Amino acid sequence: MLRILIVEDSRVNMLLTVTILERAGHQALQAETAAEGLSLARAHAPDLILMDIQLPDMDGLEATRLLREDSRTRDIPIIALTAFAMKGDAEVMRDAGCDAYITKPIRYEAFLQEVEAVVQEVRGKHPAP
Ligand code: MN
Repeated sequence: MLRILIVEDSRVNMLLTVTILERAGHQALQAETAAEGLSLARAHAPDLILMDIQLPDMDGLEATRLLREDSRTRDIPIIALTAFAMKGDAEVMRDAGCDAYITKPIRYEAFLQEVEAVVQEVRGKHPAP
């Protein structure tokens, strides 16, 4: 079971994402704005953050940069959720501090596999003390 923070302003996407994760036995924390996401990330130190790129108050990449600058959230895996990815976007997202990105609309099996793979990969890089 992973505690996963979802930062997503679309209610439809949020509901879909939460449903998939909870059915797989994970726990979902929900934020509709970047500010709320930053606050929940600092308070709960989730195992993973799913970060929408287009948010009402702040770009998801900017929010990711802020999480990477904060010692409380620096090592939390972050997967960007993006409606479309163009050539070069992967590099921009990695430069901002994202570990991976998933293109929406998400697909059940591939999504869960990616979520679990990224957490394993990042934990390998930053083993718990
Ligand atoms: Mn959005």
